[in-house]
Parts: sequence; structure tokens; C-alpha cells
Amino acid sequence: PYDVLVIGGGPAGASAAIYAARKGIRTGIVADRFGGQILDTASIENFISVKHTEGPKLASSLEEHVKEYKVDVMNLQRAKRLEKKDLVEIELENGAVLKSKTVILSTGARWRNVGVPGEAEFKNKGVAYCPHCDGPLFAGKDVAVIGGGNSGIEAAIDLAGIVNHVTVLEFMPELKADSVLQERLYSLPNVTVLKNVQSKEITGTDSVNGITYIERETGEEHHIKLAGVFVQIGLVPSTEWLGDAVERTKFGEIVVDKRGATNVPGVFAAGDCTDSAYKQIIISMGSGATAALGAFDYLVRN
Ligand code: FAD
Repeated sequence: PYDVLVIGGGPAGASAAIYAARKGIRTGIVADRFGGQILDTASIENFISVKHTEGPKLASSLEEHVKEYKVDVMNLQRAKRLEKKDLVEIELENGAVLKSKTVILSTGARWRNVGVPGEAEFKNKGVAYCPHCDGPLFAGKDVAVIGGGNSGIEAAIDLAGIVNHVTVLEFMPELKADSVLQERLYSLPNVTVLKNVQSKEITGTDSVNGITYIERETGEEHHIKLAGVFVQIGLVPSTEWLGDAVERTKFGEIVVDKRGATNVPGVFAAGDCTDSAYKQIIISMGSGATAALGAFDYLVRN
């Protein structure tokens, strides 16, 4: 069996695998798509000490760094079941069952898409999902935020301090964000809130130049000129496959303690699939390191 088996090959998983392997213990990593979300990221400017990089480049550095160590890398493999017996068993979609004394879950998350024309076409060309990552790219320009929940309104408040103007588009007749966030939002001079509207299309040529929406009550169609659209309708953790095997929040996030331990002895978790407060590359890597050290500590004591 493995001492540490990491499930997920994004920043959290790569970091966990390196920290585990450096303890000289038997380490494996299973990844559906090594690199994870950063494979879909154009430019990265907040990975501290690296002024600028690109997602695919960082992904290949992660893989190279992991391969410096004795780690069994099982790429293009998906885990479909976890069961805690004496050891922790992970069943893969190809039918194989891997056994390990400890497991680190780092299966990440994905942003929910609005699914309107232009969204996929202009991804990284004006369509963005992460205000902490891409907000500064729109300094002085006009942007929209789709989604009036907490993440949408937090994004709008954040962006209002950087960009020229923010338009919030909410499908429902009311914003769902906490009232303290709404109060803050409405106190800002450069924000417009459109409620009960349906985003119809993100328009552009080489990059985004606007958004078309429909007023749901009247059916009237409008177009606004913009340089960017932030889609903020939810980040979904890739944890459905765990079912009830590990405790998760109502949003599906794996509940971890300060050592990255879950409610199941020997099972740890790190990165965007957990209930960590913020989801970023540098935070995922830190929590991957924490979970690996937590797992090592567990091995020493058991
Ligand atoms: P992920 O990167 O999601 O990796 C999850 C891994 O698990 C992948 O390898 C996946 O294939 C694998 N996996 C999932 N399910 C299974 C399964 N069942 N079995 C096996 N493997 C599985 N953050 C920043 O700090 N700066 C930025 O500039 C930035 N820009 C971003 C731009 C975009 C477009 C996106 C989408 C995200 C951006 N982020 C950015 C966020 C950042 O990418 C994430 O916080 C980070 O990748 C999370 O790392 P992770 O390892 O937890 O998960």
C-alpha cells in the first residue's frame, strides 16, 4: 500500500505529493487532468515571487517538480469511490482499487458557467471568473458581474475600486447577497444593479465588447458596452464522487481542520475542494503542504 495517496493533480495535489515524498514515504498521485484549473488560466500575476506566468507553463513546472521525487504519477485517471477499511481504499473509474494508509483529497472545483453564447468563446478574452486574479486587467474600464449572490456582490464591490464602472446583472427580482454587502454595494457611486434580467449573450470581436440582456418583466432587450464580464454564479467543488464517505458542507466542500484532516481518520483534504475561506493557487499549495504534513504526523502516531 501507499503511505500517502493524493487524489487530484492541481496546485494543492502537487504540493501535497512533493511534501509527502520529501519525507521518504511511499507516495502516489492520481489525477484526472494534471495541472487542474490552471490549465485554463491565461496569465497569472499573483503567484508570489513570480511576477507573471501562464497557466499551462505553471502546470508543466508543477509536473516537473513532482517528477523530481519518487512519486507514482497516475495521470488521466479518475477516482470514483473512497472507502475506509483498515486502509483507505480508492476505486478508480478503470476498476483498479488503490490502497493507502492515508489519502489526501485535492480534487479542486470548477466555476459554474452561465452557458450563454460568447462565454466560452471569450474566456480569458474578457470573460473572467476570479476578481482577485483578473480584476486589475480591467483597471479603468467598464465591466459586468453576472450573479447577485454573496460572491457576485463581493466581486462587484472589489471591482468597483479598480475599474471605471460595474454593472451587476441578477436573474431574480432581488439580490441574494447578505444585506451588509448590499448596503456597501449601493453606497458606491460607480455601480449599477439590474435585477430580474436574463443575460442573453456576451458580445465581442477579438475580445468582449458588451453584453446583451433581457428585462424579464417586459421582454425588452438591451445591450451595454463593456470590456469584461465576471461570471459569479458559484464555484462547485469536485467532490460528488465521495457521497457520504467524508463530511462535506451543504455546498459540497470537504470539512477540514487546521491540519487538513477530515472527519475520517487518515483522510486529509486540501485546496479548492475544501471549506477553506478563499480559493487561490498560493492558498491551495499552502493547504496541500499542510495536509501532507498532517498525514505524515498521523502516520508517525499510528
Ligand atoms: P484544481 O486546480 O481544481 O485541481 C484539481 C485536480 O483534481 C485536477 O488535476 C483534476 O483533474 C483532479 N480531479 C478532479 N476530480 C478528480 C477525480 N474524481 N479523480 C481524480 N482526479 C480528479 N488563482 C490564482 O491564484 N491566480 C490566478 O490568476 C487564477 N486565475 C484563475 C483563472 C481561471 C480561469 C480559473 C478557473 C481559476 C483561477 N484561479 C487563479 C484559481 C486557481 O486556479 C485555483 O484556486 C487552484 O487551481 C486550486 O487548486 P486545487 O489543486 O485545489 O484544484
